[in-house]
Amino acid sequence: MNQEGKLIIFSAPSGAGKTTIVQHLLGKVPQLEFSVSATTRKPRGDEQHGKDYYFISKEEFLHRIAKKQFVEFEEVYTGTFYGTLRTEIERIWAEGKTVIFDIDVIGGLHLKRKYDGQALAIFVQPPSLEVLIERLTGRGTDSPEKLKERFAKAEKELNYAPEFDIILKNHDLQTACSEAEELVRQFMVHGS
Ligand code: ADP
Ligand code: 5GP
Repeated sequence: MNQEGKLIIFSAPSGAGKTTIVQHLLGKVPQLEFSVSATTRKPRGDEQHGKDYYFISKEEFLHRIAKKQFVEFEEVYTGTFYGTLRTEIERIWAEGKTVIFDIDVIGGLHLKRKYDGQALAIFVQPPSLEVLIERLTGRGTDSPEKLKERFAKAEKELNYAPEFDIILKNHDLQTACSEAEELVRQFMVHGS
């Protein structure tokens, strides 16, 4: 079955809080299902294959690109690929659910354009670049080298906020989560 459904896209520079907000929504809104991306990076902490990501080799990723299995993909960091598999979206729609994405800014804009009229694209905005840097450093998941790469990318990505349907400020986490929940529920009832 390939019934078309709705998509909710959460994008932001790394460290803005999109994973935290998306996980909150998944716990609150049962009609949502997370689009598990494929990546060539190694699992972090207790991340699980098939739940957080499909962790695959670069060779397999390139093979899947050649087979046109991705709706979008990107070399988000040098040498590290991330992508959304077409089968993932189809699987979730076949269950009658709405797909929710945690995806980088360029990938989010690709999906918004591709699924125009079916998608709600939300940009999660941190209070400032300085706070973003603090959060990313505080998360403690990246090496100093990786952090530097993420900061440089984040600075550029903040400029894309106006291209999204909604800018969701993430200053106080509880407020941001409630606002996100309200936006998602509205969209699921009334559409874009
Ligand atoms: P992203 O998925 O955008 O990279 P995360 O959800 O991993 O970001 O959040 C980055 C870090 O910031 C995490 O340690 C998270 O707990 C923390 N965080 C998220 N939102 C807030 C907030 N509003 N205030 C303080 N810390 C936050
Ligand atoms: P992380 O390594 O922190 O899990 O993710 C790095 C960045 O890649 C984040 O901004 C994340 O949202 C993004 N990302 C995750 N999955 C995808 C995907 O399928 N496509 C694209 N373009 N970016 C993704």
